[in-house]
Amino acid sequence: MSGEDIPKTQTAAIVRKQGGPVEFDDNYPVTLPGDDEILVKVLYTGVCQSDLHTKAGTATGPDGNPITKIKLPHVGGHEGVGRVVKFGPNLNPTDKLQLGTLVGIRFLSRVCHECEYCKSGRDQHCGKSTNHLHHEDGSFQEYCVLDTKFLTELPQDIDPKVIGPTLCAGVTAYKAVKNANIKEGEYLTVIGAGGGLGHFAVQYGLALGAKVLGVDAGTEKQRFVESLGAQFVDFSKCKDLAEEIKNLTSGGSHAVVVTSGHPLAFRGLADIARIGGSISIVGIPPGEVKLDAPVAAIVIKGLKIQGNLVGSLKETLEAVEFVRNGKVKPHVKVRPFRDLPEVYELLEKGDVPGRIVLEL
Ligand SMILES: [Zn+2]
Ligand SMILES: [Zn+2]
Repeated sequence: MSGEDIPKTQTAAIVRKQGGPVEFDDNYPVTLPGDDEILVKVLYTGVCQSDLHTKAGTATGPDGNPITKIKLPHVGGHEGVGRVVKFGPNLNPTDKLQLGTLVGIRFLSRVCHECEYCKSGRDQHCGKSTNHLHHEDGSFQEYCVLDTKFLTELPQDIDPKVIGPTLCAGVTAYKAVKNANIKEGEYLTVIGAGGGLGHFAVQYGLALGAKVLGVDAGTEKQRFVESLGAQFVDFSKCKDLAEEIKNLTSGGSHAVVVTSGHPLAFRGLADIARIGGSISIVGIPPGEVKLDAPVAAIVIKGLKIQGNLVGSLKETLEAVEFVRNGKVKPHVKVRPFRDLPEVYELLEKGDVPGRIVLEL
């Protein structure tokens, strides 16, 4: 495809102001790639809780305050897969990157490459980074510009339908399980196991050899979590969740990964963890949610508490490799792009097993 085939306008899902609805604009301008950039035709995109929270104005920053400094109109989407359709003026196709090559659209759009975090493989913490949530238009549009200096170059034999969610939910869960330092045969408890992040954490845990307990509620989530190979624990039916898990794990879970954003999910975790165990937290709940763990329990049991912000570009590609070789199977439901408002409603209610992917 040559540059002539790129339309001037496209369909994008836009949010005019935080707290407002998501609307479809069929005359949204297509941005052409500048130097060191490429233009990508988006094929599929996942829908993330943080898209919902940013749109609603309830996403929380590191200071505990809502994130309100965002580009408007807001075009979300950071779990996308697309094909290259145009190179920036100073670029030529290479062996690895040609017209038609599949690439990923992730949360981070650009980093500085120079700070201590970029240089030590922790680019997700780069203080000068920009992202596809607050600064740049993401994958909820047909054509997206990407920086080739920080490009998610995917293996070309992947299924583009399932890779999108791996680029955010997947790598986040992978990183949390990896940071929990779980050893083969040890117990991993995943809180919120039936959700988008949770179903990935269950599978990465199993792939790394853990015995996984999946905590969630209801028969639909039970069927789903059991189908992944985990033992299901229904918190809505337990009198005392910590006691239940202690019994099932003969003394406590070696690692607990919290993938639910519900404030109640952050209580009682020190009771669930085994002596010397770890509590790994992913996802950012809206509002000011605090980890409710007694200092005495943390000290006496020697617990490790770990926060996880997505993962680096390198870790993202590690997470993708588990999916490529079939060890982790993202559970996705493909729906048309125009269903985004309905998908947001479903996410708000919290009854989405796995992840919904939009086809553009
Ligand atoms: Zn996300
Ligand atoms: Zn940096």
